[in-house]
Amino acid sequence: MITRKLSAGDIIEAQCTRCRKLLNHTIVAMVEERVVRVQCNTCGGAHNYRPIAEPKTPAARATTRKAETAPRTSKKDQGAAEREEWESLRPALESGQSLPYDMNGTYRVNSVVAHPVFGLGVVKCVIKPDKMEVLFQAGKKLLRCR
Ligand SMILES: [Zn+2]
Repeated sequence: MITRKLSAGDIIEAQCTRCRKLLNHTIVAMVEERVVRVQCNTCGGAHNYRPIAEPKTPAARATTRKAETAPRTSKKDQGAAEREEWESLRPALESGQSLPYDMNGTYRVNSVVAHPVFGLGVVKCVIKPDKMEVLFQAGKKLLRCR
């Protein structure tokens, strides 16, 4: 972890591409807080900065990446779980009797509904007074009913 802030003109240790050694370099260019270009103090050659492979760095980076992707993954899992549930019900939905969806219709839990847009779905719960949650292939939808 780098605790002190670096800026262009500062001296840092870097792997020189010409000398092939870890040497002092002067920072030439930075993007935000990341060193992008350095000049070797020994040979004077400028090159892109390569971070020194410290054992700490990849671990810290991996943690950050995990934190970034975590919410996205769980959201995807939710949709995948609903789709999987629908797929498991699919033979029963397609072989059984379905009721055409009507916003003035009355449905019970486990009723099979044929919706013009979402297709076949199964009523998961009825929310009084006039709504129900139906599981379709595309996921759960809240529909009007009586
Ligand atoms: Zn050099």
